[in-house]
Amino acid sequence: MENMGENLKRLMDRNQLNKRYQELMKQVKSDPDVQRFIAENRDTLTEESIQRSSSKLYEFVQEKKKFQEKKGMMAPGYRPELMLNQNKIDITYIPTPEFVARQKENQIRNRIQSIAMPKNIQEVTLADVDITEDRHVVMDKVFAFIENYLEAPKKFHKGLYLEGPFGVGKTYLLGAVAHELAENGFSTTLVHFPTFAVEMKQSIGDNTTGEKINAIKSAPILMLDDIGADSMSSWIRDDVLGVILQHRMQEALPTFFSSNFSMKQLEEEHLTISQRGEDEPLKAKRIMERIRFLAEEVSMDGKNRRHSG
Ligand code: ADP
Ligand code: MG
Repeated sequence: MENMGENLKRLMDRNQLNKRYQELMKQVKSDPDVQRFIAENRDTLTEESIQRSSSKLYEFVQEKKKFQEKKGMMAPGYRPELMLNQNKIDITYIPTPEFVARQKENQIRNRIQSIAMPKNIQEVTLADVDITEDRHVVMDKVFAFIENYLEAPKKFHKGLYLEGPFGVGKTYLLGAVAHELAENGFSTTLVHFPTFAVEMKQSIGDNTTGEKINAIKSAPILMLDDIGADSMSSWIRDDVLGVILQHRMQEALPTFFSSNFSMKQLEEEHLTISQRGEDEPLKAKRIMERIRFLAEEVSMDGKNRRHSG
């Protein structure tokens, strides 16, 4: 008697399970993607092979649901799709176009190193830069640089020294150039020079000065932003900036600058007078020679674009 009861119970459980299974399979087979897939592969798939693949079909419907709800996916950014694998139904995971685009954008961003630059500088592209009438000269030079560089990245190409008042878009343009180069696989380092100079002074304490200078001086493409915005000590001028520029000249590495000063002003008003108030015109001249070798001066005028909406 007892045995009978157990058997009956097992049988009933199996019936329950069967019923549940049938319901699930009904759901799975009513899925439009499953239906379409079966219809498209009528020639290959028999009723039996579909039956045998039911767990795959079930998995597909589950993963598709997770994908649509964007929750709990095995591989986020990948969309499940049914496929035939030696006449059997299988699932393949295909990266979504958004995922591919995001990955690409991340790769691009990773090619733009920045020190103390505005947060969104890695996102500015040349397409974002509106080219007004007064921008033709500078944009011609920008495009020429990019074209020449991409054509022969190992050769020396003179960078640009963007000179102009506060807010005209110098930093923004440097960011856009870096982005364009990054899209083509080249790495740029963007440095807000005044902040970098302060960091260098602090680095004397922890002995990292040499290592920091080395990282900057050998960047494949270097952009020194806002040079001359703060007064420079002789040490920063000669042993930091001077060393960086000397190395870049020797190694023929493209270098850009942006400044509120023209080259002439930078030399006479900024680099000549040391923080202690001494006149050091020869040292200023040496630095300027290197800057002039590395970059061509272009002036950028126009309205202040900050907070103008
Ligand atoms: P600068 O470095 O010359 O002081 P920025 O590059 O910081 O000026 O530009 C100031 C602001 O103006 C930026 O935050 C940016 O949003 C905007 N801007 C600059 N140039 C452009 C441009 N060509 N097109 C659109 N917006 C710009
Ligand atoms: Mg700026």
